[in-house]
Formats: sequence, structure tokens, C-alpha cells
Amino acid sequence: MLINNLNNANATQQSETLHNIISWWLAFTAALLLPVSVSLAADDLLTAQERSWLKAHPDIRIAPDPDFPPIEYIDSNGEYRGIAADYVALLEKKLNMKFQVAILPSWDDVLAQAQTREIDMFGAAAATPQREQYMNFTAPHFELPGVIIVSTKVDQNLTLKDLHGLKVAVVSGYVWQELIERDHPEIELEPVPDLLSGLKRVSFGSVDAMVANLAIATHYIEKSGITNLRVAGETGYFGRYALAVRKDWPQLNVILEKGLNAITAEERSAILHKWVTLGGKKSLFENRTFWIVLLSFLALLTVMAILWWNWSLRRQVARRTAALREEFSQRKRVEQAFDNSEQRYRTLFDSASDAVLMFKDGQFVECNDAATNMFGCSRKQLIGQSPSRFSPPSQPDGRNSEEKADALITTCLEGIPQMFEWQHSRLDNTLFDAEVSLNAHTESDQRYVLAIIRDITERKRIDRLKDEFISTVSHEIRTPLTSIRGSLGLIKGGVTGELAEKTSEILDIAYQNTERLLLLVNDLLDIQKLTSGTIQLEQRTFNLAEFLDQAIIANQSYGDQYNVEYQRQPVPTVTLTADYERLMQVMNNFLSNAAKFSPQGDVIHITAEQHGPMVRVSVQDHGPGIPHQFRPQVFERFTQSDSSDTRQRGGTGLGLSIAKAIVELHGGSIGFHSTLGEGSEFYFDLPMDK
Ligand code: ADP
Repeated sequence: MLINNLNNANATQQSETLHNIISWWLAFTAALLLPVSVSLAADDLLTAQERSWLKAHPDIRIAPDPDFPPIEYIDSNGEYRGIAADYVALLEKKLNMKFQVAILPSWDDVLAQAQTREIDMFGAAAATPQREQYMNFTAPHFELPGVIIVSTKVDQNLTLKDLHGLKVAVVSGYVWQELIERDHPEIELEPVPDLLSGLKRVSFGSVDAMVANLAIATHYIEKSGITNLRVAGETGYFGRYALAVRKDWPQLNVILEKGLNAITAEERSAILHKWVTLGGKKSLFENRTFWIVLLSFLALLTVMAILWWNWSLRRQVARRTAALREEFSQRKRVEQAFDNSEQRYRTLFDSASDAVLMFKDGQFVECNDAATNMFGCSRKQLIGQSPSRFSPPSQPDGRNSEEKADALITTCLEGIPQMFEWQHSRLDNTLFDAEVSLNAHTESDQRYVLAIIRDITERKRIDRLKDEFISTVSHEIRTPLTSIRGSLGLIKGGVTGELAEKTSEILDIAYQNTERLLLLVNDLLDIQKLTSGTIQLEQRTFNLAEFLDQAIIANQSYGDQYNVEYQRQPVPTVTLTADYERLMQVMNNFLSNAAKFSPQGDVIHITAEQHGPMVRVSVQDHGPGIPHQFRPQVFERFTQSDSSDTRQRGGTGLGLSIAKAIVELHGGSIGFHSTLGEGSEFYFDLPMDK
């Protein structure tokens, strides 16, 4: 019924009610009792008479209500505790005395024993007419307001008037019962044996409300864990608690009053705050719900932290895994590209028609398929072998293969690439001609030689065929040509009679061209003989100076044609062993070229100098010099710097290539220096006799 009547009340007022009541009451109590709180020194409190009275009564027994927290109670250790206990302890200090605490089973026992003088005083009791018959009460030392306790379903503030016609529980014999019966007979009172049973009845709804002491009620509500109760309002009554002493000991009453007066306002306030809290720190920490909520919150926080930690670890792992995967796939891509590239180069390497070999420290370390085919062996038979294993003991020029190869490789390792013709042997010792190029390269601080070998057997065969053809043709041409020249010479000489001037001119042209043609044919035959290796050198020993003088004499008429003078410089006295006629052919070529290209009236110098075991013979002119672009081909066959020049100066373009072949056949070398516009110097080096 109450719920129905009151349910429309303002919900926000509920929580504030208890707080307001306690705050007001604590402030009020402190202020009310302040005037009597006169601090007195303990020693001065009592008179001598009073002291001697105390001495005569050493065992003053105080009996608390054993179960009336927080006013007074006996705790689980059998200690006297509560507001009254703190007051009694303060009194003992201030009065310098001791009480004996008598622990009795119930408040009823306390009352009964007080009447029979088995106990002497109460720590805190409300004065009632009945109790005053056998006890003297001091002035109340603290008071607690009576409040109305209802179910939390009722959310309105109440006064006692609101309870008229309703069932209200009170602890039987407590002061509230007397007061309500007197002032509000309309309330249907339900006396209960103790506070807890009253609160339970409100909680279960068997009564509408309960009237009880504020401190005790809040204490029980908090401690008992009955969570559906709340304080709905004040009654206007106060439970005033005083010390009480057996009636026949008025002296003790006076002594206690003195003690109470000595208790300061701060001390009173401290006691009340200690036991009746406003939901401050202490009560909060004593609150089981608070701890449950706090621990649940902490547990939740821990779980969340673990989950977060897990999540962040998983994220880190995922990120790292992704990075690793990316790194891995990138590496795979690079490896793939590398594999592809290596495959490509391997294919190039293996499909090359030339043999490609690499060697280091005189051993093959790598080769391609063409190399194994060329040498007629397996890769296994080739790798680790020395290059000399695949050469005959000597080369066509008669030099030892190993020595010649060592010299070439050493020069190559010094950084000068080498290109030369070489005779190789296969695994079965059959021979073949090759063109070899050597290049050095460095890999991880190691020097390697890369050899590219081309089998030129076929080329050589064709060259031979070509040379044979030229030789045959030249031979076939030379004989009729010689006869033509002879015949023309006879006609020119007038054997057939006087010639008309015009006929004589034409005959001269024919004669000159026949000469020229014969020269060419002779040169062709020479070069064929020299390069095919069929020429036989007719060696003899002769003095160099005499040889040079002879060369000058032989060419003097040619020099006269070009109006140049040959001049020999002093030369060292050396002898040469060589094919005199062939070497003279070289000198003829040098001297005739110098005459052809020199300005009129010029002097051509012929010198000879010693260079170690060699002697260098040079022919120096002051002609136009050799154009740069032509220099590399000077010793090649049929090459001339300028075709118009050729016509002016004659020649076949074979002279120097023949000279080169002759000098090399003698184990020498040929060369030139030239400065454009200043002249040229052609020379050959030959080993001299010791
Ligand atoms: P040729 O029979 O045409 O002289 P060579 O082989 O003797 O043929 O000479 C080849 C070419 O080299 C000549 O045509 C000329 O262009 C050049 N040459 C040779 N000697 C000289 C020189 N002393 N001065 C300038 N050019 C020269």
C-alpha cells in the first residue's frame, strides 16, 4: 500500500537523504555538546574525597549491551567496542581509573543484573522512567536520531505522519516504541525482538517500515548486506545515550559527569565520525559491494590488458610476418631474376660457337660446351688441366709451346689483351689451327684469364686454296707477260724498223704497264710463297754496313728518278746471318717508298742502331707522313693510303706486307714512326750475330 501511495516520488532524492541526515546530525551534536566540553587537567578533575571513594571501590563493573553496534558491542575477540566503549576508554584516561567490563549474554541480562546490583553501570543507555528507578543517569554524552527505514521500492521521503495506518516495526522495549505509542497511536506498531529481524521484515515486505536509530540502522544495512533498504526520513525523535550508575552510588555519578565534561568537542566528533561514517573512505573500503565492484573492475581491466597485449602481440606478429613474407617474395623475385639472368648468360656461354675457357694459376676452371667439343673431351677431362696439355710441344714457328704460351699469358695478366694464332691439339692429339684472344679479369681479388678460341682450320684451308689459285694464275700470267715485255722491248729498240712518233709513245705506255703487271705478279708470287711457309731462306753471314751500302747502290737510279739522295749514317760494326736477297727486298721496299714520298732534292737517311741483342735498321724520309686512319693497315696486303697517290707514285700495295713477312721469318719485327707533314721512319729489328 505504501509503495502504491509513494511510488511517484522523486527518485533523485533517495540517495541524498541518508547523507543529509548524517551530516546534519554530526554537526548538530558537535555544536550542542561543545559548551560543556571544557578541557580540564586529569589530575585536577577529582577531589580528594572522590579519589578516596574510587579507591574504596576498585571494581566498578560496567556491562555493555553485547550486540548493539555501533553504539556498543563485544567483538569476536571479546573486546568492548563501539561509541560507548570509546567514551569509556576516554573517561578512564581522563579520570585516571579503570572499569571492569562484564560481558553478559544480552541487554535483558544487563538490565536484570543492574537491578540486582551485580553490575554497577551502563556505558550507553537511554533514560527511561523505569530504569531511573534503579539507576542514576548522567547527562547524555551522545545522541542519535531515530529514522524511518523503508524498502528501496519506496522512493519518497517520509515523516511519521505518512506512516499512519501502516505497519511499522520497532525493537521491543526501545525508546522509539514508547514515543510512537504516545504521539502516533494511528501507527500500527510491530514490536520485533531485535533490529536485524525488523530490517529483514521491511526487506521482505511483511511490514511497511521500521523506526530505528540512524547509526545502528545504517550499520546493519551496510553489514548485513540487505541492499533493498533505505532511510526515507527522520522521526523527529533522538535516542539520547547517557552513562548510568547504580542508584546507591551517587558519588560515581558526579565523578563520571566530571569526566564527561572534560571530553572536548573534537574528541566527541572524532568518536562519532569513527563509528558513523558518511560513506567516506573507511565505509567505502568496508563495503563488500565496493570491493566486489573494485575487484571486478580490476579483473576486467586485467583481462582487457591481457586481451590488448595479445591483440598488439598478434598485430606485431602479423606485421612482422607480412614484412618477412614481403622480404621473402622480394628475395624470391631477385633470385628468380638472377636465375633467369644466369640461365640467359649460361645459354649464351654454352651456345657460343667459339670455345670460351677460364683459367687461373695454369689450370682451366670453367669452360663452355664449344670448348669440350673443340678439344674432343668431356668437361671433367678439361677442368683442372693445364692449357699446354692441349698444345703440341712446339708451334709452327718452331718455338716451344709452353714457353710461348707463358709469355703471352704473362703479358695478358699485366693488362695487355693478346690476340694470336695458335696450333692446338685435341685430347686424341690431332692438331688444329686456332685464333686465340686472351683477356685478364679480376674476381674476388683473384686474377683469371679468359680465353676465346676459334677453330680456323676451315679458314686456313680456304686461304691456302686462294693462295694456290693466285700462285697458279700468277705463274701462268708471268710467262706470257715476260714474253710480251721482251717483244715490246725489241719493237721499242727498233728491231722492226723506225717507229712513228705516235707509235713510239703508245708502245712506251704498253711497256710500262707490262712492267707494272709483272711487278704485281712477282709480288703476288712472293707473298704466296712467304705466307704458305714454302719459302726456303738462304742464310749467310754478312756485314751490315756493306749490306746497306749495297742497298743504296741498287736503288740509286730509282732515287735519281725522284731526285732524292740516300745517305747512310755511321753504323755499328755488326754482322747478320740472314737471307741476303730477301733482306735486300725489304730494303728496296723501304728505299723506294721513301723516294716515292719524298720532296724533290731531299736527303733520305739510312741508320742502324744496336738495341740489346737486336739491331734496328731505319730509313727516314721527309715526306707527307702516314695519315692516322691508315696507320693500322699499313702492313696489310693491297692497301695504299690513297688511290690517286698510287697512280701518281705507282706500287701494288704489297711491298710492306712482303717486307713484314720476310722480317718475321727471320725472327725480327717491323714498324714505323710517322708525323704528318714531317716525314716517316720505317724500320726493322733483327737479331744480330754475337
Ligand atoms: P706500294 O707498293 O704501293 O708502295 P707498300 O706496301 O710498299 O705498297 O706501301 C703501302 C702504302 O703505304 C703506300 O701506298 C703508301 O700509301 C704508304 N707508304 C709506304 N711508305 C711510305 C712512306 N715512306 N711515306 C708515306 N707513305 C708511305
